[in-house]
Amino acid sequence: MRLRSSGFTLVELLAVIAIISVLILVIGFTTNKALGHSRQAKCLGNTRSIAVSIKLYASDHGNKLPFGHNYTTGRKWYQSLKEYGGTDEVLKCPSNNEDAVGYGWNYPALPYRSDSASSMQKQNVNHWRHPGKLMLVGCWEKTTGAAEGYVYSPFPSQGQSSKWAEDGSMMGAIGRYHGDGANFAFLDGHCEWRTFDAIRPTAAGSEYFWGLKND
Ligand SMILES: [Zn+2]
Repeated sequence: MRLRSSGFTLVELLAVIAIISVLILVIGFTTNKALGHSRQAKCLGNTRSIAVSIKLYASDHGNKLPFGHNYTTGRKWYQSLKEYGGTDEVLKCPSNNEDAVGYGWNYPALPYRSDSASSMQKQNVNHWRHPGKLMLVGCWEKTTGAAEGYVYSPFPSQGQSSKWAEDGSMMGAIGRYHGDGANFAFLDGHCEWRTFDAIRPTAAGSEYFWGLKND
């Protein structure tokens, strides 16, 4: 009987290398997925903080929401929230490395210009009859024709649907960082991850989400 030489044969060595490579791939994949999930969870926490800061702002301003763009003070909605916990850290979506402001104001549903009568009416929290359905802010990303910090309604009657593309290349400036959906904060303070399909005009309840309906 031939004595087996110590060490690995070439075939054994190759097999071991192959197994290790597969393991590295699997570990890498699961770690990436886990990281993605933890960022998504942190982002959801941010939307919660933003919802709280909007509540605090409103209680300090006669139950009124901030303006998307306050022409009197020159402040955008996120700048109005600075003293109410809307810090730079809270405003950054952890999955969006590009943009300092990672969240967008529901436009044109929410009050926008401080010099518009309809905006002033929409400012009052009590104006909204379905606070659990009305979206305040959602993950934001830079899109052609979109201003920093605003997400746009896909309903043609609200005049912003050109910022949506059939093929999903433009989603009204909603951030596409968390799978096939994004995180949103609602007027009642609750926050949730919703799929893109659930916020399109054809989806049930999306008129309320975009503030088109308020009956
Ligand atoms: Zn996000």
